[in-house]
Amino acid sequence: MCDTVLRFVVYHPALYLCITISNIAVLGSFMVFILNKLLLISFDGFRWDYDRDVETPNLDKMAWDGVKALYATPAFLTITSPSHFTMLTGRYIENHGVIHNMWFNTTTQEKKQYYMTQFLSNYYLPTSKMSPGLKAVEPHFYDHSNESEWRVNIDKVIDEWFHQQDLDFVSLYFGEPDLIGHTYGPDSPERKEMVRQVDRTVGYIRDKIQDHGLTDRLNVIMTADHGMTTVLRSGQVEEIILSKIPGFSFKDIQFQLLDYGPLGMLLPKEGMLEKVYQALKGSHPHLHVYKKEDMPERLHYSKHPRLLPIILIADPGYIVNGFFPVHFNKGEHGFDNEAMDMKAFFRAVGPDFQSDLMVGPFDLVDLYPLMCHLLGIKPEIHDGHLNKSKDMLVPQQPQEETMVVSVHTLVLLIHCCESKCEKYLLLTLTKSTIERRLVVDTIFTENSDCVEAHSNNEDQQKISGNTVAAVNRRQTAINQSCSGGAPKLIP
Ligand SMILES: [Zn+2]
Repeated sequence: MCDTVLRFVVYHPALYLCITISNIAVLGSFMVFILNKLLLISFDGFRWDYDRDVETPNLDKMAWDGVKALYATPAFLTITSPSHFTMLTGRYIENHGVIHNMWFNTTTQEKKQYYMTQFLSNYYLPTSKMSPGLKAVEPHFYDHSNESEWRVNIDKVIDEWFHQQDLDFVSLYFGEPDLIGHTYGPDSPERKEMVRQVDRTVGYIRDKIQDHGLTDRLNVIMTADHGMTTVLRSGQVEEIILSKIPGFSFKDIQFQLLDYGPLGMLLPKEGMLEKVYQALKGSHPHLHVYKKEDMPERLHYSKHPRLLPIILIADPGYIVNGFFPVHFNKGEHGFDNEAMDMKAFFRAVGPDFQSDLMVGPFDLVDLYPLMCHLLGIKPEIHDGHLNKSKDMLVPQQPQEETMVVSVHTLVLLIHCCESKCEKYLLLTLTKSTIERRLVVDTIFTENSDCVEAHSNNEDQQKISGNTVAAVNRRQTAINQSCSGGAPKLIP
């Protein structure tokens, strides 16, 4: 699409009336809103306060030019895959169903890390089943920390996808500063150096956006899936090791998910649940033991059938070990999302965002309705609230336009109204020397692109990891069939 073409969504309710009762070419004046593109960036494990002990000129500039939230609260469980699915679905983890980074089968005892499953079609939605317009790219081998490889991805996203292919929404993931935080700890000099690398990357992204003339057409949201805290090791504290707890025996357990940070889950053998629960409850001052149904409501981590009957949560700094400690990370996450060390950073900049605005805490479950709003898409059912982020946005000023509609466009619009298939009309407005000609570009149905970026919960389509996902709104819409229902234009 050439740069002289602008895209709008028409919202004026009288539009249908004008078209259906009259065959005149001039519609008269009506309101239009400009829809901008959206880039969502996640820097894995970038804690909310990582910019406080490092010079971050580019992140600071982004805050001046846009919006900075005090912090962002991830959904519980505060680990990578579940948290990213919450970002892209607006659903709590118990509702979207990606309950852990590990994939497991309690019958076969299989356990797989997410990256072990990404090319297995029985774990991930095969590409052929993906919705038209959706790209998901995850290389087989990828260095999550390499700044040069980061820039290759950025070039692809900005140059190729936004600029050349004119995509509307791209999400972009970076594996740091999570890895360095695990290895060296969140207070280490290595973590601070990685934050400098992130900051340089933010500068590179914004320069690229400017170089391609996208600054006024592209909104950028930058956040993280969780924070990081220092692990307390033996010598400092008494570690949580289940095999050492009196009355607890692994012989009573059919399946266990342990040794993965501060969360453990147990499936006791038949008739053993109460025994296991009573043995573990109160066994360590920093271990919280719940029957699944008794989990605190605020965590929204109890209702999904994949969650196992007993859930163990350690206090910040502690790890739930099975037989003995097997991981020696200096930093860890996965703790209660009320812990400040689990909070993530949040920045947003672009034509739809206010400038130099500091706002209070932001819940990542509210990101999905915000993104759908920015993209002009009707959201699927979700657990977030758009009103929590509306203060970040520039109040919408509809532009009044007088348009002349060509005959073929009218025919198409009338046809659409009669078939009652349209939910949204995405219009392309071209300016000619003689008249402004309105060309219908695409027709949205309810199955719009944000919905497709949202995971298929049953098939658990992978969006996180180092996936780069992109959606071409126009291709998507063109390939969708009409789904019926009354005409509805977005306000
Ligand atoms: Zn991590």
